[in-house]
Amino acid sequence: MKKYLTIIAAVLSVILVVLIAVFALILNGTITIKPYNPVPIIGSADSPTDIYVSDEQSPEPEPETKKIVVLDPGHGKSSSLMSEDEKLAEMWIHNPNKGWGEWRHWKSGTTWTDCEGSGCTGRAPSNGSCWYRMADGDRDTEPEINLNNTLNAKKYLEEMGYEVRMTRNSNDENPSMTNRLVYCYKNHDTASQPDADIFVCIHSNAGGGRGSAYMSMSGLYDQAGTLPSEEYISESNRLGKLINDRIITETSMPAFSGGEYDGFPTTILFCKSPVPMAYLEIGFFDNQSDLSILKTESDSIGKAIANGIDDYFKEQN
Ligand SMILES: [Zn+2]
Repeated sequence: MKKYLTIIAAVLSVILVVLIAVFALILNGTITIKPYNPVPIIGSADSPTDIYVSDEQSPEPEPETKKIVVLDPGHGKSSSLMSEDEKLAEMWIHNPNKGWGEWRHWKSGTTWTDCEGSGCTGRAPSNGSCWYRMADGDRDTEPEINLNNTLNAKKYLEEMGYEVRMTRNSNDENPSMTNRLVYCYKNHDTASQPDADIFVCIHSNAGGGRGSAYMSMSGLYDQAGTLPSEEYISESNRLGKLINDRIITETSMPAFSGGEYDGFPTTILFCKSPVPMAYLEIGFFDNQSDLSILKTESDSIGKAIANGIDDYFKEQN
């Protein structure tokens, strides 16, 4: 009995030694293990036309899909300094009775069909009309402040991986609101579906007060945008609040009016934008304390805008 056990032990020892040796050779690379790789075979197995599919082809890299943000620095060159050709190129309209301006709305249920005063909701400021006078948008000081804050926001957004489109790049241009919205479309093709995700208007306030707020939209939105009316309004307001919250927590700018202006259903860009949009009034440029912050903390304001936009997309996921 003991003899048999000795033989079994010896056999097992030999097997063990062989296994260890094979394992060592595999580790060493002397022996390679070919993985089982089923290949489709056309024709007979030993035909010279056999086709082998290599397993070494790497998959196509996923195309990178960046979120697209349109940044709109409010206002620009004064209308009195622009030639007629410049105004026409910026899509301002000359109306024989009303002068230079643009229509506030598209016809209900459409985009890119101006209401021309009828076939729209008729929302307008009190004592106003569907027509917006170009000269009412003329500002001094503000265009430069808006552009600086916007360029800083662009810098941080691009660092975060967003695609950014600017509606103007200098203070020597002044696109109509309508012309600013063409940046929501790939190659400005307004006959296609908008490919931008959001539109962000960056302004500064004046007229008594201080601090930063977003304009909250309420009321009916009846343009043919990417979202149904209620969702367009709630997403637009969510975006505005997230950006303004970042501004008042990450810069010295206080909140104006609790950070939110209520009820601006008449703003042209709110009425006509095909994608959710935020409208920020960052500080009062006619208040010395706010003006000082706007001048010295523009980089932080830009970063706060970028962070707020990033919050919006992260909450969405
Ligand atoms: Zn109208």
